[in-house]
Amino acid sequence: MTLLPQTEERADFGSRIELALGASNQLFNTRNSPRYVADVLQAVNLVATKVSRVDRPFTGIAPAQLAPVVEAVDLEAPLADTAAALEELEALYLRDAVYFHDSKYAAHLNCPVVIPALVGEAVLAAVNSSLDTWDQSAGATLMERRLIDWTAGRLALGPAADGVFTSGGTQSNLQALLIARNHAVSRLRQDPALASERLPGLLDRLRIFASEASHFSIEKSASLLGLGYDGVIQVGCDAHQRMDPAALKEALAASRARGEVPLAIVATAGTTDFGSIDPLAALSTLAEEFGAWLHVDAAYGGGLLTSLRHRHLLDGIGAADSVTVDYHKTFFQPVSSSAILVRDGAMLGHVAYYADYLNPQSAAGAASLNQVDKSIQTTRRFDALKLWLTLRIMGPDGIGALLDESIDLARQTGELLAHDPDFELAAPAQLSTLVFRYLPQAPEGLDGETADALNLHIRQAIFASGKAVIAGTKVDGRHYLKFTLLNAETTLEDLQEILTLVRSIGAGYLAGVRA
Ligand SMILES: *Cc1c(COP(=O)(O)O)cnc(C)c1O
Repeated sequence: MTLLPQTEERADFGSRIELALGASNQLFNTRNSPRYVADVLQAVNLVATKVSRVDRPFTGIAPAQLAPVVEAVDLEAPLADTAAALEELEALYLRDAVYFHDSKYAAHLNCPVVIPALVGEAVLAAVNSSLDTWDQSAGATLMERRLIDWTAGRLALGPAADGVFTSGGTQSNLQALLIARNHAVSRLRQDPALASERLPGLLDRLRIFASEASHFSIEKSASLLGLGYDGVIQVGCDAHQRMDPAALKEALAASRARGEVPLAIVATAGTTDFGSIDPLAALSTLAEEFGAWLHVDAAYGGGLLTSLRHRHLLDGIGAADSVTVDYHKTFFQPVSSSAILVRDGAMLGHVAYYADYLNPQSAAGAASLNQVDKSIQTTRRFDALKLWLTLRIMGPDGIGALLDESIDLARQTGELLAHDPDFELAAPAQLSTLVFRYLPQAPEGLDGETADALNLHIRQAIFASGKAVIAGTKVDGRHYLKFTLLNAETTLEDLQEILTLVRSIGAGYLAGVRA
C-alpha cells in the first residue's frame, strides 16, 4: 500500500496545485486581476440586456421541465471561462426566472429594484465588509448607524432609539420578540417568588397578542422563542382587516384573569394581504394599560415613512417599543435589506453575548462600535450601503414618490373592480394590494365550491401562461385573487389586460364545467 500517488497520478496532482495557485492569482479581485472588471461587466451586460428584453414576467415553465436541465450540469467539471458559465446560466436560470420588474408581475411583495441600490450591491460584495465588529467594518458601521438613526428619526422613536439591519422582516420580528420576551422575563424575575424559577416555567405564562391578519412570522417566532404557536392569541379584526381594539382589550383582560402575562402586542402596519394598518394609537394605550411591549410590524407599510402624500397613515408609530421595517419591499431595495428598531437602545443588550475572540466584555459599553452586540447574526452583509446610495442619489422623496404611484394605481384599480359586476372586491385598497375574485353574474348563480375552483384555476392558468403573475389568498375560507402593486411603471392598462385575461380564462373554465 502506498500513500503517495503513482507517477502518472503524481504528475496530475502537481498540475492541480499549479492550476489552483494560478487560478487564485487570477480569480480574486486583488491587485493583479485583469478579469475582475471584465467579468463583472460581462455579467452586468448580460443581465441588463435580459431585463430590457423581458416582455412577460415568466415563461410559464414547469418544474419538471427545468429540473433535468439543472440536474444535467456536472459540478465536478468546470467550464472553460466566465463567458461559457454565463451562457450556460441563460438556460438554467435567466430564461425562466420570474421577473419582478415586468409590469404584469403583480403577485407578492417583491419590488423592482432601483439602480443606486444595484450599484451599492456591486461595491459591498467586492469589499465584503462584515458588520459584526469595527475591525471588520470601519466606516460601514458608522454608515449603518446613520441609517438606523435616519429611520428612527422618521419613525419619531425618540433620542434613545437604536437598531440594526437584519436579513428580513421575519428576522426583525424574531429579534423584536426575543428582546420583548427577555424583557418580560427579567421583569417577572423581580418578583421574589419567581426569582429562581427556571425559564420554561416563566415562558409558559407569556402571551403575544396579534391580529388574525398578522404575518405568520409572529407565530413562528413564538414557537422559536419557546412559547409554542399557541403562545400567540389571535385578535379579531374590523371589516377593513384592522385589529379591533375592543376585541384586544377583551382578550388582554381574559388572559390576565387566567394568570397569564402579556409579552407583547404586535400591531401590523400594512398587512400582507390587505395593506391594512392597525389603529396604532389605540393599541399603544392598551399596551401601556396592560404593561405589554408594543411591537409594530411595518415590514410592508414602512415605506410610507418616505411617502409624500400618505405618511399620515403611520401616525402614532412613534409610540412603539420596537418596529420592523423591510427596505427590500417598499424602499425598492434588492433582497436582503431590513431593520429592527427599538425605542430604548439599551434593550438591544438582551441579545448581547461577549466572545473573547471577537467582542470581549472589556470592549463592551456605550462606546463599542461592535454591531454584533446588537444583532442575532455574526457575519453580516453591508446591506445598508444599498439604502445609503439610494438616499444619496434619489433622496427620500424619490423613494416615496414610487410608493405613492403604486398606492394611486391600487386605488384606481379598486374603483374599477368595485364597479364591475363580474368581480367582487374584498375590501377597498388601503396600501397597494387588492383582494378580489372573479364572480360573473351567471343566470344560475355560482355556488361557493365552484367559485373557489374557478378562482384557483384562474390563478394557476395565468401562472402557467407566463403572461402575468398574480397571487391568491383566502378570505373567510374562500379563495380570492390578489394584486400586490409595487411597480411605478405599471399602468392601469396593464392591470386591465390582466383582468381581461382573468375574464377569458374564467369564462372558458365555466363553459367547460357546464358542458
Ligand atoms: C413580508 C412580511 C414579513 C416578512 O418579511 P421577510 O422580509 O419576507 O422575512 C413580515 N411581516 C409582514 C407584514 C410582511 O408583509
